[in-house]
Amino acid sequence: MPIIRVAINVPVGTLFDYQAEDANVLDIGLRVCVPFGKKKITGIIMAISMETQIPIEKLKSAYGIFREINPLPPALLNLFHFCSQYYHHPLGMVILNSLPAMLRNNKPVKLKEWWAQHPLGLTDLGRQVDIANIPARNRVARRLLTEFQNATNLTVQQIKQISPRASKLLIEWKQLGWVAEKPIIQTTPSETAIIPTLTAEQESAVTTVTARLEQFNTWLLHGVTGSGKTEVYLRIIESALSRGKQTLVLIPEINLTPQLEAVFRARFCTIPLVNLHSGLNDTERLTGWLQAQRGEAKIILGTRLAVFTPLPELGLIIVDEEHDSSFKQQDGLRYSARDLAIFRARETNIPIVLGSATPSLESYFNAINGRYQYIRLASRAVKNARLPMIQYIDTRIHKSQDGLSVPLLKAIEKCLAEQRQTLIFINRRGYAPVLLCKSCAWSALCQRCSSRLVVHLRDKKLRCHHCGHEENFPRACPQCGNQDIAPFGQGTQRVEESLIAHFPSARILRIDRDSTRRKNAWQEILHTIHTHQVDILIGTQLLAKGHDFQNLSLVGILNADTSLYSTDFRASERLFSQLMQVSGRAGRANAAGHVLIQTEFPDHPLYYSLQQHDYDVLAQTLLTERKMAGFPPYVYQALLRAEAHDIKIVLNFLKQAAHLAKPTQAIQIFDPVPAQLVRLKGMERAYLLIQSSSRKQLQAFLTEWSVQISTLAIRKVRWVVDVDPIEF
Ligand code: ADP
Ligand code: ZN
Ligand code: ZN
Repeated sequence: MPIIRVAINVPVGTLFDYQAEDANVLDIGLRVCVPFGKKKITGIIMAISMETQIPIEKLKSAYGIFREINPLPPALLNLFHFCSQYYHHPLGMVILNSLPAMLRNNKPVKLKEWWAQHPLGLTDLGRQVDIANIPARNRVARRLLTEFQNATNLTVQQIKQISPRASKLLIEWKQLGWVAEKPIIQTTPSETAIIPTLTAEQESAVTTVTARLEQFNTWLLHGVTGSGKTEVYLRIIESALSRGKQTLVLIPEINLTPQLEAVFRARFCTIPLVNLHSGLNDTERLTGWLQAQRGEAKIILGTRLAVFTPLPELGLIIVDEEHDSSFKQQDGLRYSARDLAIFRARETNIPIVLGSATPSLESYFNAINGRYQYIRLASRAVKNARLPMIQYIDTRIHKSQDGLSVPLLKAIEKCLAEQRQTLIFINRRGYAPVLLCKSCAWSALCQRCSSRLVVHLRDKKLRCHHCGHEENFPRACPQCGNQDIAPFGQGTQRVEESLIAHFPSARILRIDRDSTRRKNAWQEILHTIHTHQVDILIGTQLLAKGHDFQNLSLVGILNADTSLYSTDFRASERLFSQLMQVSGRAGRANAAGHVLIQTEFPDHPLYYSLQQHDYDVLAQTLLTERKMAGFPPYVYQALLRAEAHDIKIVLNFLKQAAHLAKPTQAIQIFDPVPAQLVRLKGMERAYLLIQSSSRKQLQAFLTEWSVQISTLAIRKVRWVVDVDPIEF
């Protein structure tokens, strides 16, 4: 009897064997329902074998194989294998967690889910079926067949009208290959969309990439803000479409999807496009996923999880804002969607385009070393749109009141008078208003995390931004009884209040995670901005990314300094990229852009490079620093992260783990250290850094070591390997 080897969503690295009498090699990649302990669960068939190590009397039988949708293709299984090995995460967990939730429960996919949007029609085989062979008592079947023969295809509604039982029949007929979804007919780009004439730089970028669509290359498209990278993507995608290929477009932030989706739909209005992001409900996600899997969706737009979508006709991958840290998942399987996308492109032998105005140092390093192909867009695409003028306000001279200095206020006033929009950007990384007692220095802390609670003035609450814990404002200092406790630092709300006081007639809009949580909130906000129903925007990182606000001419930046002297070696890179991005929001169209940055260090080299719009000088400086300090991209890193209720247990675990390690010369292991945020959600955390100048050796070491670590019988410690970590 055939034995199936099944990947299951459990933290064990092995596959599980079951008997399945009806299994054959075509079932590899299909879902299967199997007994596991006392439960029934869904796994994926990874292999079929005639033998097993398990004594035959212990071998259980699978309950059933789900054949109603196509198996996961071998290329995708290959990606899962790589991902599991590279990130040292159990294969079953990698696979099952990447699938739409509805494929993880023990049910066949219901018909209406997979064809809801598709008319169905008879296949060649179906047309050969003779109605005389269907018994007369099967009235529904006869009726359905006749209907299909008369109409070329039927929609869900029509089929339901025939009989409620018609849907069930269809599942059978689909398995028999009698009926299939009718493919959507493709046409050329819409004529209504205004298609700009490419600039010379864009033209050359497009020609270069499209000339090599048939082979793997990683293209780094380094284009200043407003250089028209999107137009370059569109043209390359058009080329891929004309060959019948699918394109996967990865973007960092769910909030950016509506904007990009609108652009794509306007240009390719008849091309099936699906959007796969974390905001979808289960049915929406499954429907999109299936359309992608069947090769019908030609453009797949999505956030990082979309990298795991089955795409039989994949011909091109685009990673927009490739430097963005959101591409790296920060819990569970700590994968980088950008890096997996590169692996996928290499395996599929297709091009991948990484786009950014401020490439990650890793990508830049690879580009100047010739591992990636480097394409540069140095000027803005729109005629007369210049890069914004960046100036610094020295806050040692111009004292600020509630965060805003006089020169900045004056500039806002001028901007209002000219009926242009202003954006006040508050760098919140590691900075937010906290409640402080000035007489005894008490500050409000979260009991579950080692972090300060953030003041939310509007609803008079203190909130932990790590775990969500919430409490009321204390009336007086709990430590010394002082009644004069006040928020310290500038949060968005504090700045908002101060702006309202200064400009009572201006329309002011504050945008942060809270104000965008509601469904569609983001679209409404964008609409308000685009139609100029707002004069001053206040926001954090959310606003910095990718948006194209035509009327915005002034950007004011507060709190940037807090990232200048961080202990995190990536802080400067992030700050620069963020400031460059947010500055890039100014002066996109005809309005000249002006950026004012409040700082105590106006002479800092990072600020100088920013003022010159000189990414390269800064990148070179940072690379030199990294080389001397022995940081990535000159070395490869991994962390062994662990957490438990007590930091002592965690550190002890890490010490034991280090003790087990048998590092070769090429591997460096550092001492365990508590994480920057030691307590998080009631758990205490620490890590151990491992690094090597050879990725291969690091991988070999980690593979062996993680097996040994699993033998450590320390209860209550959760651990995970984080390969290529970007946060410490
Ligand atoms: P980036 O993503 O590089 O910052 P965008 O793709 O958002 O830039 O383009 C910036 C603006 O330039 C958009 O309004 C876009 O419509 C416009 N644009 C792009 N290419 C051209 C072109 N060739 N001619 C005129 N306008 C263009
Ligand atoms: Zn006090
Ligand atoms: Zn907390």
